[in-house]
Amino acid sequence: MATPEEYDVVVLGSGEAGKYLAWDFASKGQRTVMVERRYVGGSCPNIACLPSKNIIHSAKVASYFRSSEEFGITKDNWKIDMSGVRARKRRMVDGLVEMHLGRFKASGAELAMGTGRFVAPRTIKVDLANGGTRLLRGKRVIISSGSRATIDAISGLPEARPLTHIDALELDRVPEHLLVLGGGYVGLEFAQAMRRFGSRVTILERSSRLVPREDTDVSEALHQLFADERIAVHTLTTVERVEGTSGEIVRVHATNSGGEIVIEGTDLLAATGRTPNTEDLGLELAGVERNPDGHIKVNGRLETTAENVWAVGDCAGSPHFTHIAFDDFRVVRDNLAGGDRVTTGRLVPFCLFTDPELARVGLSESEARTKGIAYRLAKIPMVTVLRTRTLSETRGFMKALVDASSDRVLGFTAFGPSAGEVIAVVELAISAGLPYTALRDSIFTHPTMAEGLNPLFSSVPTAKGAAN
Ligand SMILES: Cc1cc2nc3c(=O)[nH]c(=O)nc-3n(C[C@H](O)[C@H](O)[C@H](O)COP(=O)(O)OP(=O)(O)OC[C@H]3O[C@@H](n4cnc5c(N)ncnc54)[C@H](O)[C@@H]3O)c2cc1C
Repeated sequence: MATPEEYDVVVLGSGEAGKYLAWDFASKGQRTVMVERRYVGGSCPNIACLPSKNIIHSAKVASYFRSSEEFGITKDNWKIDMSGVRARKRRMVDGLVEMHLGRFKASGAELAMGTGRFVAPRTIKVDLANGGTRLLRGKRVIISSGSRATIDAISGLPEARPLTHIDALELDRVPEHLLVLGGGYVGLEFAQAMRRFGSRVTILERSSRLVPREDTDVSEALHQLFADERIAVHTLTTVERVEGTSGEIVRVHATNSGGEIVIEGTDLLAATGRTPNTEDLGLELAGVERNPDGHIKVNGRLETTAENVWAVGDCAGSPHFTHIAFDDFRVVRDNLAGGDRVTTGRLVPFCLFTDPELARVGLSESEARTKGIAYRLAKIPMVTVLRTRTLSETRGFMKALVDASSDRVLGFTAFGPSAGEVIAVVELAISAGLPYTALRDSIFTHPTMAEGLNPLFSSVPTAKGAAN
């Protein structure tokens, strides 16, 4: 083996946590190199969160055009130009990549573009993108290799060359009839966006309802939204085989309670889950073990089974969100500085960026019931939050769970405009241990969505046995 180049820190994959660790270590004077095969800054800015929200916003503009008369704006004619939609997204991504390159330069972290794999403990061989190889050894190694779209082992599916989110974000045409496999957040966000661009859309979902981890009232509201936008949803539907080619004609054979169904479309989007990027990393040569589901085995401190090797983000099985990967960065940074920070018990807020958004932090009602936690429920329709009337977007509701005997906020769900922003307020209250009365009695700006927290928390039932 050639003599390795020695580094204080080697980061494999420029996922969210990995890149922040690289910048942090390098700016503190540690010799740091990050290996990335394609996407400077990882999935989020290139092929996932930010470009998808960019496209979703274009779809929202399309929905405004469609209903412009509601806002007193008449139109003669208009059309969707998907190459223009894509160009806006590409401009944003280019800007984000530039921003990332600037962070590498400013911090002093080296960026090695190429595909890396372990060849010995803490030693990574890189097949460089522009030819040649390098051998890098780190006193510490961080694995931040992320995940990719799962292509299920369904007969004919790989041959049909389904779109993944990466391809869907690069479309320069509106699919005539898009079949979406999977009703998770990736599938739902794309389904609505493509529908708003003018595609006919059909979703096929194995579970009995969309967002099955959420309460039934949440699922029902989402089903109603999709029905109103004329998106076909087939639940309890198992895909058995696929024929044809996505982009031309594709036929999905599936079974549901009524027997076999065949649905024909022009394009197929695979959105049934994520597979961790861990199988080609040579982990066995580095003493890094994986769990049976393919994620790297880590403890609460994000240490792997190999000394001085850490794993972060999707590849380590952390909940698959950028904000969680960012928290993984803080966990590892603090542990390497001598702290003892763990991932256990942290709040995991999420937002589904449909329009309107669906966001939750803390417990849902079904989780509280499963865990045997008694709660008081407050729920208000969005139409009572006056901001929604100014927007003509009154669909949805907010609900909060408050502990049955103390005033602790247990959970909060919002389905409505800016739901992802509103949960931040409640999340802060939960993590600061504030009683619900703090939200009830705060003065929030009028007319904002957050203002709705006043009537919501004012409607929390009095605790049993409490003095009125
Ligand atoms: C369509 C879509 C939308 C999403 N929207 C949201 C959202 O709105 N909000 C949210 O919080 N989350 C969202 N997510 C999830 C989010 O993108 C991920 O959870 C987040 O990016 C964390 O990923 P990561 O940091 O673990 O790795 P990634 O960001 O995936 O980065 C891993 C990097 O490692 C590189 N790599 C892998 N193997 C090698 C190798 N052998 N050598 C060199 N480099 C390698 C990859 O090229 C990649 O750049 C979305 C995901 C998708 C697919």
